[in-house]
Amino acid sequence: MPRAKKMTKTEMKKVFKPLILKEIEKIEKEVRMLSGETASEEKPSVYSVHMADVSGEIYEREFSAGILSKEYETLSALRYALEKIERGSYGVCEACGAPIPKGRLKIMPAALLCVKCEEERQKELNGKAKKLF
Ligand SMILES: [Zn+2]
Repeated sequence: MPRAKKMTKTEMKKVFKPLILKEIEKIEKEVRMLSGETASEEKPSVYSVHMADVSGEIYEREFSAGILSKEYETLSALRYALEKIERGSYGVCEACGAPIPKGRLKIMPAALLCVKCEEERQKELNGKAKKLF
């Protein structure tokens, strides 16, 4: 895999800022919908974008409350990403300082870690979960 280049400020503002703002708008709409009609049978579509993998099905079966708290989590992550754009530190892994590939950021604009560190964090989380039980 070719090493990803650090992105420029112009790129952050022209490409990723609108992307993040659009995501925030979308999720805010879904949060309003979910909190307004929790009894609704309608399923939010956000996970078809964010979790386009096997876990999507599990999430769909979760209660609205669970989805809502997940939505708030995503929202705060997106707002944090916006702050990072303003500071010019967007797109850099918070754990190892390596540039996060743009392709990854386009799918998950709120990503704070590169693929390698994200995998390690997941492993760590899984390890902790096992210790708890
Ligand atoms: Zn990293």
